[in-house]
Amino acid sequence: MSTPAFSICVALSLAIVAVAAPLSPATAAAHTAAHGVDVRAVRLWTGPDNTRIVLDLSGSAQHTLAVMKNPDRVVLDLPGARLAAGAKGMPAAAGVIKEVRMASRPGGELRIVFDLAHSIHAKSFLAKPNDRYGYRLVIDLGGNGAAELPVRVLHAPPDARDLIIAIDAGHGGEDPGAIGKNGTREKDVVLAIARVLKQRIDAEPGMKAVLTRDGDYFVPLRDRMRRARAQQADLFVSIHADAIRDRSVDGSSVYILSQRGATDEASRWLAERENASDLIGGVSLDDKGDVLASVLLDLSQTASLTASHAAAEYVLHHLYSVGEIRKPQVQEARFMVLKSPDIPSMLVETAYISNPREEQRLRGAAQQAKLAAAIHQGVRAYFYSDPPAGTRIAQMAGFAAPATAAPATTVPSASPPVLATATNDSGG
Ligand SMILES: [Zn+2]
Repeated sequence: MSTPAFSICVALSLAIVAVAAPLSPATAAAHTAAHGVDVRAVRLWTGPDNTRIVLDLSGSAQHTLAVMKNPDRVVLDLPGARLAAGAKGMPAAAGVIKEVRMASRPGGELRIVFDLAHSIHAKSFLAKPNDRYGYRLVIDLGGNGAAELPVRVLHAPPDARDLIIAIDAGHGGEDPGAIGKNGTREKDVVLAIARVLKQRIDAEPGMKAVLTRDGDYFVPLRDRMRRARAQQADLFVSIHADAIRDRSVDGSSVYILSQRGATDEASRWLAERENASDLIGGVSLDDKGDVLASVLLDLSQTASLTASHAAAEYVLHHLYSVGEIRKPQVQEARFMVLKSPDIPSMLVETAYISNPREEQRLRGAAQQAKLAAAIHQGVRAYFYSDPPAGTRIAQMAGFAAPATAAPATTVPSASPPVLATATNDSGG
């Protein structure tokens, strides 16, 4: 399951390279002394393949070194350290290093940032005093020496997971959904679109689709959410093609859950939490007090709604390429299937089956494929713009973002959204 509210703090593209030089008990005690350690000088050497940075220290020191992206930089933190009085300033740019910046941070930590021309590997070690020098912290950038520590990239571990997209074909079984003038049933058309969409997503590296139904049978609305949650889906996309009395109306719309729908659902979760073992954003509510449970739920819902809105805008943008857009802004409604508090969710009204021209097109594989392609492109663009930490997409997005257009329809909805057809709990 997606955990938007609780993954924000680990979403930094951070690569911890080395943490803390080993300390003997004596030096550890020295480190915790009130004075801390003085940085007497920062020196730089550049060679054809690597750059070496040496910090001359008054004593042994703990340190943290991180390689970061966007922009590329190496960040060195030295707890309890300070620049010695009389020390020269930071060295000038050289080699891969574009700039060296230093700042004292709250809590007595000295931070030195090396801005880089491009990303490189980094390693560090503490050198003991010798007859010429005292303690030195050595940082090597670049090179492929055998002694180099592997860079462990936290946001893209080797076992980075695939994103899970739950695709929900509306209706099914005894519920045909809307029926067109020529007898086309919504449940059949949306299942066809859902299956094409699944194929396309499964063919996408780093993504995997699951269908909440894959046949002509009915699945209760809450079961559709449950299936998505059981698969730990990162996104829920419900597909519909509804009818409206006015047969001239056509075009696509994209819905997310309204705030009122979210509030209703929060009350339900809070009321039922003692009987439920479900986790919200990876956190159990049943052992939390009323206030904390309510705050946690609200955080999760807010993050999910924000993500839902962003994803829905990308999908709406790509639907423009298929044809008419019924509602040019993301719509909000109280659709039951969109109520998962921790899965960003949207409902796509692909077209109006009540419109004879759209009904005719919806029956065809070509139009079904076009709609599936547009939804797929929107979902893909959304995830490349904001990939969840620990996913293969995050890994790929970090190195080569795909050339997908940002949505041109991004208009923050300052005015209350227009509610279209749904004003009560419904599956659409
Ligand atoms: Zn429907």
